Amino acid sequence: MKAFDFSVPTRVFFGNGELRRLQEIAPTTGRRAMLLAAKHTMKQTGILDRAVELLKKGGVDVVVSDNVDPNPKDVDIDRQTGVFLTNKCDFAIGLGGGSSMDSAKAVAFLAAQGGGTILDYLAGGPHATLEGTKPAFPIICVTTTAGTGSETTPWWVITNTKWHEKPGTGNDSTMARYAIVDPELMVSVPQEVTRSTGIDVLFHAMEAFIANVATPFTDLFAREAVTLVVANLGKVLENGRDLEARGRMAWANSIAGIAIGEGKSSTVAIHALGHSIGGQTDAPHGLTMAAVGPAYMAKTWDADIVRYAEVTRLLGYAKPGLSDQELAQRSPEALAAVLEKFGCRVRMRDLGVKEEMLGAMTDSAFKTMSGCLNCSLKPLSRADVVQMYKDSL
Ligand code: NAD
Repeated sequence: MKAFDFSVPTRVFFGNGELRRLQEIAPTTGRRAMLLAAKHTMKQTGILDRAVELLKKGGVDVVVSDNVDPNPKDVDIDRQTGVFLTNKCDFAIGLGGGSSMDSAKAVAFLAAQGGGTILDYLAGGPHATLEGTKPAFPIICVTTTAGTGSETTPWWVITNTKWHEKPGTGNDSTMARYAIVDPELMVSVPQEVTRSTGIDVLFHAMEAFIANVATPFTDLFAREAVTLVVANLGKVLENGRDLEARGRMAWANSIAGIAIGEGKSSTVAIHALGHSIGGQTDAPHGLTMAAVGPAYMAKTWDADIVRYAEVTRLLGYAKPGLSDQELAQRSPEALAAVLEKFGCRVRMRDLGVKEEMLGAMTDSAFKTMSGCLNCSLKPLSRADVVQMYKDSL
């Protein structure tokens, strides 16, 4: 077996009602928290008020910023970091989906550098490698979507509004110290968000499995997460109040996060291509991968017949009697069929991409997400990326 390392440094509280843990864990993390919450929805659902009350009961001062928009922007992070520093906060809590959790991570990181602009630490900036930077202030993630796995990854994604790019970055210090995964918080997620976030889980897990950095450790989580999404996403789309299915999606989400966040593990070029769509169009993250996923599978299925054959099986599209070669070759169709089944079979055009954006999107994929591109089992040239984009337009 090849050598690999793993650790799961975040202490995760999983289960219905576990939001209550905030009262006990927050005071062990710091004295004054900045709480970054998703705009409108956290207030409307009552989740924000419950969280604030628990923090106060725990004796923690709280500075609330409940204006996090989907796909957080550099300018918002810079402003929120100013609030964190002015109020002398000593930790950050993300309450919401990936946008809120990533905002908390970015603010905790930038505040530790003394403020400034987050652009300096994103691809193309002077400190993009994050080498020599100070460790972020402590972070608590409370996820209210089953999508990004941000609660168990070191990664955070911030839109660069100057270049219309969506780079992902992170280091050990931006792993959450604690995460709360409470499926009861997810029953209010609207159907369209359930769809785009649920498909994000599928891509994290599937991409982790076909990454050249996959390990036996990440495979465990990746396989299980694909299986859970295939079995449960339809149920939560049909009935958002199905708490059992919400729980299974939430579990798939957090373990898919481990599959893309541990050791050197990663997603592949599907995420690189998807992020560049998001940078140009602000489209929901999960759908950007749905748009390019089948073209990626068609380009790469012969890179590892055994693994791609297993993807077809995990997706539930294996026919008896087919060889691994035949199954692997069918993996693009299997993925397309699963996307169709869950109502996510979209093309890039549906997300607002125009042909004239393809050049900038290709540049951005190589500039901002080369880490993921390089984790693909088949080396990909610029021409390959352009072709996949054209095939997905
Ligand atoms: P999101 O956080 O943008 O939320 C989407 C919408 O759902 C928002 O309007 C939000 O208010 C609403 N919402 C969230 N929870 C709700 C609830 N319980 N009830 C009702 N409404 C609710 O969506 P997301 O897909 O979770 O996060 C997307 C962001 O995360 C993107 O910026 C993406 O690039 C990033 N991302 C990060 C990672 C990572 O590892 N850090 C991985 C993948 C994606």
